[in-house]
Amino acid sequence: MSEVLSDWRDTLPAVRGKIARDAELAPFTWLRVGGPAEVLFLPEDEADLSVFLKGLDASVPVTVIGVGSNLLVRDGGIRGVVIRLGKNFAKVEARGEARIYAGAAALDANVAKVAAQNGIGGLEFYRGVPGSIGGAIVMNAGCYASETKDVLFEAYALNRQGERVVLSNREMGYSYRHSDAADRGDLIFVGALYQGTDDDPFEVTKRMEAITERREKSQPIRDKTGGSTFKNPAGHSAWELVDKAGWRGKPFGGAKFSDLHANFLINFDNATAADLENLGEAVRADVKGKFGVELQWEVKRLGETSPLPLGERKAQGAG
Ligand SMILES: Cc1cc2nc3c(=O)[nH]c(=O)nc-3n(C[C@H](O)[C@H](O)[C@H](O)COP(=O)(O)OP(=O)(O)OC[C@H]3O[C@@H](n4cnc5c(N)ncnc54)[C@H](O)[C@@H]3O)c2cc1C
Repeated sequence: MSEVLSDWRDTLPAVRGKIARDAELAPFTWLRVGGPAEVLFLPEDEADLSVFLKGLDASVPVTVIGVGSNLLVRDGGIRGVVIRLGKNFAKVEARGEARIYAGAAALDANVAKVAAQNGIGGLEFYRGVPGSIGGAIVMNAGCYASETKDVLFEAYALNRQGERVVLSNREMGYSYRHSDAADRGDLIFVGALYQGTDDDPFEVTKRMEAITERREKSQPIRDKTGGSTFKNPAGHSAWELVDKAGWRGKPFGGAKFSDLHANFLINFDNATAADLENLGEAVRADVKGKFGVELQWEVKRLGETSPLPLGERKAQGAG
């Protein structure tokens, strides 16, 4: 009984959104693996999120997830609070002068569509990225020679104290599939303003459709995957290195690298997160040994490899 009373989860701030304990995260990820969140919080809106962050003990770790298209949640789950933004964070609207606003929970593909409808060019590449704007902002998502960095005007976030922060494109500190702003670890992005170019809606739509077609042919988009597993090292394609090292389609527990795209890790037969991560690490070691190239994970691996013992839960509690 005293263990339950000392649990930090008993003193969470009062909110309008939904809070769930020991919430399974696997259904929220494309790879469909991983353990639970100690607490999952689905804020009602930005004000609700701010109240929650202000009232949450500063020692409790906070993790944000988007639609989980670049995530490997480990089997032990995630400590602290996991936040997932819902429909009240999904607004997308043209703002004049070829600008477009998108909430962090909006799907990239929807932003591309609305931009096209409004004759805004430059964002059609988002049609090829199956994530949310929150994930795109932090990952500098991109494809076919365009990336978020090329079109982001500014991004809006709440910090761990629940205060609003505005970051310019420069302040995001973008590089290939990376932002320095995300490394701060205390920002929950709630939206972004993009700067496109005036264009013909018909032409933008045509370019968007070409991207859809190309993606369907080259990526296993109907599989349980996390997208590109490794970043392309300078002067190499990650898929080529994985392929040349002999790992395309080779089963490892319930995991393998896709037959269609050798840099896409796939959960093809009830893989655990450990199967997927261990396969990734085996491939990294093999590629390093054979070609001297160090592959870096692009997929974000979050959480614990084994369940958190109750004693440790108490020790990290708020009281
Ligand atoms: C079939 C397939 C194809 C893909 N193709 C591409 C591609 O062509 N180009 C490309 O760039 N990516 C691609 N990806 C990867 C993925 O779609 C992108 O990285 C995407 O931007 C991730 O967005 P998400 O909402 O799924 O984020 P998640 O996977 O949920 O999270 C990714 C990271 O973003 C953080 N995050 C998410 N939302 C927020 C927020 N609101 N505030 C702060 N942090 C946040 C998470 O903590 C995590 O670190 C592909 C994935 C799949 C499955």
